[in-house]
Amino acid sequence: MNKTDNNDKGLQEELFFEGLAENDNAKLLKVPMSDIHNHSTKGCSRNWLGEQLGVDLPAPPERFNGLAGMQEWFTSTIKPYCSGRDGIVKRWEGSFAEAKRNNVMRLAMNFGPAEIELAGGMAEFMLLIKGFHQKYCPDTVFEPEITYVALSNIDEELSRIDQYLSSGFFRSIDVCGGEDLRPVEDFRPLYRKAEEYHLIKRMHVGESGTAEDVRRAVDILGLDEVHHGIGAAESKEVMRFLADNRIQLNVCPSSNVMLGYASSYKAHPIKVLYENGISVTINTDDLLIFDSSIENEYLILYRECVLTAAQLNEIRLNGLRTA
Ligand SMILES: [Zn+2]
Repeated sequence: MNKTDNNDKGLQEELFFEGLAENDNAKLLKVPMSDIHNHSTKGCSRNWLGEQLGVDLPAPPERFNGLAGMQEWFTSTIKPYCSGRDGIVKRWEGSFAEAKRNNVMRLAMNFGPAEIELAGGMAEFMLLIKGFHQKYCPDTVFEPEITYVALSNIDEELSRIDQYLSSGFFRSIDVCGGEDLRPVEDFRPLYRKAEEYHLIKRMHVGESGTAEDVRRAVDILGLDEVHHGIGAAESKEVMRFLADNRIQLNVCPSSNVMLGYASSYKAHPIKVLYENGISVTINTDDLLIFDSSIENEYLILYRECVLTAAQLNEIRLNGLRTA
């Protein structure tokens, strides 16, 4: 690292600390951040999408009734304005516009096979996404993730996974959409494929589930990182296991609070996880639903005295480190 880089880094840290202390989102927006748990079709901001569509999109309620309640609200309230291929493409565009607005310098977004097919297949999908990346934030390290919903037909997905992974486009694999719906063992064949292509292995686990669920998923699928994983905070032993094995947790505070998986911001388990030596990052999950952009997530955790400015800065830098 040369002197200019060090100066830049120092200035960015100064801005970050000022932004937190002064409760100033505008300052924080200028500081490089990462977002590595981002569902691409819900990664844009409500304001941006509303402006593009010329409508006033409804704000979310303070709390949802779990994942199912969230899905129901999204389907009935937001989706009617932006469904089908055009709607998804617009929301993808908005996710990159948000990355630009928010100075997100490392961005991992996930995409499902159904969405890729809706876009017109892998070639057309890649062209679209690469175009948005170039247009909005060409300097951002972009790491596309392939994601499977928990109730996927695994045999069918296995029969077509090579056509997605052989493109070399994807950097990681994920499973989402309900961790209690089937045994993690069922996903072994998909994760074996991911290994063949040297993908980072992630999964949504320990969001609604327990510490033991997190350890089992890491053991059985050989996960490198966990999306959420907050359930691990219930067990010293599992936290030690995660810290010893350097398993990173990609945490999404607003999502956890609004879905009722954390009782409040103040009581968010990220504090315990961090204090137990686990590598954590802070992420948006579904910005279009939870309505809290990445700089705001840092601000809330600071304001609620969950973590200090120095701790939050360390987490920010951790997220910027390319896997
Ligand atoms: Zn998620």
